[in-house]
Amino acid sequence: FEDVKSFDPELAEAITLEIGRQNSHIELIASENFVSKAVMAAMGSHLTNKYAEGYPGKRYYGGCEFVDMAENLAIERAKKLFGCTYANVQPHSGAQANMAVFFALLQPGDTVMGMNLAHGGHLTHGSPVNMSGSYYKIVPYGVDDTGYIDYDNVRKIAHECKPKMIIAGASAYARKIDFKAFRDIADEVGAYLMVDMAHIAGLVAGGYHESPIPYAHVTTTTTHKTLRGPRGGMILSSAEFAEEHKLNKAVFPGIQGGPLMHVIAAKAVCFKEALDPSFKDYARRVVENAQALAQGLTKRGFNLVSGGTDNHLMLVDLQNMGVTGKDTEKLLDAANITCNKNAVPNDPASPFVTSGIRLGTAAVTTRGMNTEDMDVIAEAIYLLVKDVDANKEKAMAMVKTLTDKYPLY
Ligand code: PLP
Repeated sequence: FEDVKSFDPELAEAITLEIGRQNSHIELIASENFVSKAVMAAMGSHLTNKYAEGYPGKRYYGGCEFVDMAENLAIERAKKLFGCTYANVQPHSGAQANMAVFFALLQPGDTVMGMNLAHGGHLTHGSPVNMSGSYYKIVPYGVDDTGYIDYDNVRKIAHECKPKMIIAGASAYARKIDFKAFRDIADEVGAYLMVDMAHIAGLVAGGYHESPIPYAHVTTTTTHKTLRGPRGGMILSSAEFAEEHKLNKAVFPGIQGGPLMHVIAAKAVCFKEALDPSFKDYARRVVENAQALAQGLTKRGFNLVSGGTDNHLMLVDLQNMGVTGKDTEKLLDAANITCNKNAVPNDPASPFVTSGIRLGTAAVTTRGMNTEDMDVIAEAIYLLVKDVDANKEKAMAMVKTLTDKYPLY
């Protein structure tokens, strides 16, 4: 960083300010985390200099023997961590991993079922503004009035529309996903089951969410959310399925060029960390903290979609509090609490306003916070939503006590 500072002080200022923000704020964005110094060092390593189109042992460039070592480590560790026989660690992001699966398994115009974005799904599961929604015929499914996925309705829709692929997985769903139920439905209609476990991958790795691997034909994930690695994506499957459907070819040369070898190296470090017994403890604490935060909010009068959480996140429905998601994101930010506004199922407000916020506990758990701290955060949120002018100073002091107690890095 000293080199950045001396050569490019303007950029160094942006980085310094961001480090300060991360230190001084409570991070409740459910898709964020804090990587280890080892992950960060691998990302900032010399491997960024290397072109390595192709795969280990079959590259289109010379000089790849050492980046091959790094990619093989990442692949072998990913397979061990998730108990599967194929891993592609090259997708630059979760969206790229999903796009590669679409490219491998489908033809434009094919029917795909994905979770409705407005019910917690992801843009890449069929939103009209995404490639998935423009090139494929998307039939959405969602949650029922209790906020849980309505599996009977998923089955009914699948029998009606006969999809070629069903996607299970979400960005804002707080309950366990029944992968077996999805696979049964997929088998009944002859569809592929793709599971996008981006949000819960760290919980799956740590044993705190059932693994999709025994049920899904193909599983995609990001590596930077609960899994706590570098920003990136990955595809997992059985070796036979990957071979038959040419999953490697779909990633490169299908939708990507040269892999980011420094990021792949950082994925290898992340998987080694996740294979360590201490990662189970982290995953357990993420879930315990989510439950403590959910309870803290519920006892202060907040409504949670589905009434609580089984994983690392919760969706707070603010309609009874007389504030919008947009307002609340701002109110909390005023006291150094970071979250994102999020639509709730059947939200009367527009997607830019929303009636909810999504909160997650992965980042605060990595920082070291515990269930008692979650109650303090719930109180600070309550004070800010109730009367920001009267309570801002008090909430800021509560936040500062926590951020001082758990310094980053
Ligand atoms: N899939 C799910 C379920 C996600 O929540 C996200 C990101 O929020 C993605 C895919 C996309 O990941 P990325 O932002 O790395 O493209």
